[in-house]
Amino acid sequence: MSHAGAEATGLSIPRIPRIETLLSQMTPFEKAGQLSQLACHGPADEKTIAAVRDGLVGSFLNAPSLEHRNELQRVAVEESRLGIPLVFGRDVIHGYRTIFPIPLGQGATFDPDLAQKAAAIAAREASETGIDWVFAPMVDIARDPRWGRIAEGCGEDPLLTSQLGAAMVRGFQGTGGPHRVAACAKHYVGYGACEAGKEYNTTWIPERLLREVYLRSFQACVDAGVLTVMTGFNDLNGVPATGNEFILRAILKGECGFSGFVVSDWASIREMITHGLCADEPNAALRGISAGVDMDMAGRIYVDHLPGLIESGAVSAALVDDAVRRVLLVKHKLGLFERPYVQPPRQSVAVCEEHRAVAQQVVRESLVLLKNEGGVLPLARMERSIAAVGPLVDDPFEQLGCWAFDGRREDSVTVLTALRARFAGRAEIHFARGLPDCRSTDTTGFEEAARAAERADVTLAFVGENANLSGECRSRAFLDLPGAQQQLLERIARTGRPLVVVVMAGRPLLIEPICSLAKAVLVAWHPGTMGGPGIVDVLSGDVSPSGKLPVTFPRALGQIPIYYAFKNTGRPPGTDHRGIPTGTPLDPVGFETSYLDVDVSPLYPFGFGLSYTTFEYQDFSVSPIKARVGEPVTVRIRVRNTGSVEGVEVVQLYIRDLVASTTRPVRELKAFQRVALKPGESAAMEFALTAADLAFPGRDMKPTTEPGRFDVFVGGNSLAPLGGSFELV
Ligand code: BGC
Repeated sequence: MSHAGAEATGLSIPRIPRIETLLSQMTPFEKAGQLSQLACHGPADEKTIAAVRDGLVGSFLNAPSLEHRNELQRVAVEESRLGIPLVFGRDVIHGYRTIFPIPLGQGATFDPDLAQKAAAIAAREASETGIDWVFAPMVDIARDPRWGRIAEGCGEDPLLTSQLGAAMVRGFQGTGGPHRVAACAKHYVGYGACEAGKEYNTTWIPERLLREVYLRSFQACVDAGVLTVMTGFNDLNGVPATGNEFILRAILKGECGFSGFVVSDWASIREMITHGLCADEPNAALRGISAGVDMDMAGRIYVDHLPGLIESGAVSAALVDDAVRRVLLVKHKLGLFERPYVQPPRQSVAVCEEHRAVAQQVVRESLVLLKNEGGVLPLARMERSIAAVGPLVDDPFEQLGCWAFDGRREDSVTVLTALRARFAGRAEIHFARGLPDCRSTDTTGFEEAARAAERADVTLAFVGENANLSGECRSRAFLDLPGAQQQLLERIARTGRPLVVVVMAGRPLLIEPICSLAKAVLVAWHPGTMGGPGIVDVLSGDVSPSGKLPVTFPRALGQIPIYYAFKNTGRPPGTDHRGIPTGTPLDPVGFETSYLDVDVSPLYPFGFGLSYTTFEYQDFSVSPIKARVGEPVTVRIRVRNTGSVEGVEVVQLYIRDLVASTTRPVRELKAFQRVALKPGESAAMEFALTAADLAFPGRDMKPTTEPGRFDVFVGGNSLAPLGGSFELV
């Protein structure tokens, strides 16, 4: 198949005189160079420096230091023929030196403003070391916790991921002034839907699902001005995402209006040969550029083969110019032509007190309390002695989580350190790790841990996953606690002393066996540098937990994929697990959407999370009850703190479109808002539902808002009760 005539579809990219002049002067080799990113595996060798001098490199990934970066930049700017600056990229996923909770944990905050602050700090710390471009946010929707990269995104829901992803883009890039660093929305698109949760696996996503679920977060990032987008490794409906012109040219650069540049994932242009889509390297180069991939990450395919393809006319000059223009425009927007060098800061801001304070705030907001029997938490003021056990209670490295390349264990504050500091003079802390490591089966430390528990009023056990059990190529087929951690908890539970379990992990684990042993269960994800103090803030009761699950927690492996926005089916249970009638009487012989061997409901639903206080929802109203299609509908509710301590509730609004030209999910999150309330205090909340909020892809895949009845549910999780309904006419 020839792509020679393929159009550089999409917007016309702004014409900047400097860029147009450069374009007119560039040879095919220099153009291919701008479209090539090389990976550094240490200081550059002579060959690499010569390539920069010859204009054959546009970008570097992972420059080893600021000095090396500036030296490579000097060669590019001062010694290459056209003096075009390089752009330096790196994976800055959830912080640079100050490591924030993993993105899934940030999802649990439901707090876009805070996510924006965290990203701004990451950008600030990264940019002072010469990083111009971060490969984040990851906005892949993930509904399969077997997939290790679920840790890197904000969970299962398109609205939550869109809002947090867009906030991170604004944080990284800055708003208003010159861009601080370029952000990169990845991995476009559908990578999270890999079959069986197996890394790099095939994805089959019908266009409707692509539009309803997987594309929305990318559109949100484009709307927030994201400068770059990275393709996924996945084969999408038979055409790898990196060679897929439908998603790249027609949708991203066309419909979504993306005017930045698209970078491949690591060698993913070359991998199209392995996929069986391209016969050889020239063919892979042709396919990549035709599909709309502007820059080749670490693959050496463009630099080696594009010049020949340009010269032979196999690839149109317009197509290549469009790609080069996009890359140069991003360099221009980053101010690299004016300020190619980065001066070392007089005083570094890395892990400064201000950054630590924000990180601690993110930890607090990310913690999700799933169970709290008898109010065992917060630790009562009179607690005299606390046992702190488990492999993750004092591990400054593992708490950083996946993709924390620049985080340092010596900057981390563990829970043990924070507990000792917070309870100094108030309570004794009996520390016993119990197991040397999460994956260990060495039970020799069990008795010491049990003795610590016996001596204490309460035991806090910190279990979960090592950092390297989630992230890229970290799929798991079993989702229970690794190693002998469950047995450790069982041993401690046998002491009969109250047990509180804090789970640090990069994904939802199968925690039912933990819940049956523990009085309280707190999900802490991988909390990062300030994990210890943030967790102790909540355990001690200084702050009430407010995190909500950004992803459903299953009861059993066989329920996966499990998510709240499912379809009703033709044979739903008579009432769904929320107790809401589904519109079908219970089948007399029980032939309904279910399992024989496990309840159909999740263990904990999306949006769920307890507080130390309680909230009541009152005075629901929706108006107008009959609205014209296109007219906004306002939902009002009053939320009251009915408990005795201050707390924050994440108020969530879900709708159900009852009858439509295509079936709709039983619930869709349409809005959320954090609200802080003192005991007895209440707040009036108002949400406007616009036509766009109520739209979905019609039969023709174009957004449509249809007349009919909509149910509205407002509450503190995705089981929120029915508040009322309205009708679009
Ligand atoms: C990952 C990307 C990452 C890139 C650069 C790839 O293996 O999939 O998420 O940004 O490497 O390190």
